[in-house]
Amino acid sequence: MRATQFVIIGLGRFGSSIGRELVELGCEVLGVDRDEEKVQELSEVLTHAVVADATDEEVLRSVGARNFDCGVVAIGDDIQASILAAILLKELGVKKVVAKAVTELHGRVLERIGVDRVIYPERDMGIRVAHQLVSPNLLDYIELSKRYTIAEMTVPACLNGKSLAAVNPRGRFGCSVVAINKTKGIVIAPTADDVLTEKDVMVVIGTNEQIEQFQESIRR
Ligand code: ADP
Repeated sequence: MRATQFVIIGLGRFGSSIGRELVELGCEVLGVDRDEEKVQELSEVLTHAVVADATDEEVLRSVGARNFDCGVVAIGDDIQASILAAILLKELGVKKVVAKAVTELHGRVLERIGVDRVIYPERDMGIRVAHQLVSPNLLDYIELSKRYTIAEMTVPACLNGKSLAAVNPRGRFGCSVVAINKTKGIVIAPTADDVLTEKDVMVVIGTNEQIEQFQESIRR
């Protein structure tokens, strides 16, 4: 079941960005922050926004935190408050708790107390941007495991009008194009005859080395 009701603790840059996007995606979002100004800023955007200290168990009970499918702890700098809020959400029985960590140690503590997913926004974004800077065609990627990746790559001018058979990423590098996103729509499981057009987006699966080699071969 897709989680549709979220409680977000901390409405700084990270929490407010998650909240805004969740509302755009049609979810119900309760935002909690001890800073009245932050709450005011988002009161028109989020489903509900309340001024409260999320390290106070009674407060979390009174806003009905336990009824939410997912809790996001988006407190950064105040590590103690972040840990306390995460423990309280878990203890209240929120099914899935996601928390932002600012350091490795903070993250390890969050994992220890049973947080379901720990996010390191600055570190992860830094890694992502580094990959994109090195490979200008790379739009995004997901690491399936330490070895395997799915990457989204823009089709460069040098591949315009070429069929997959001609480009032959599988034969040359061992990685496979599993989808091509064209302006007209997406082609899933393309065949050797499918033709690439500049600015299409290829979804490629393979080992990290295979994908790197393919990318290297089409760098302008
Ligand atoms: P970001 O880098 O995402 O802006 P911050 O650490 O600056 O993150 O912001 C965290 C937010 O969490 C702030 O708006 C702060 O007021 C709020 N916050 C911190 N501690 C608590 C707490 N105990 N209860 C509720 N909100 C809190």
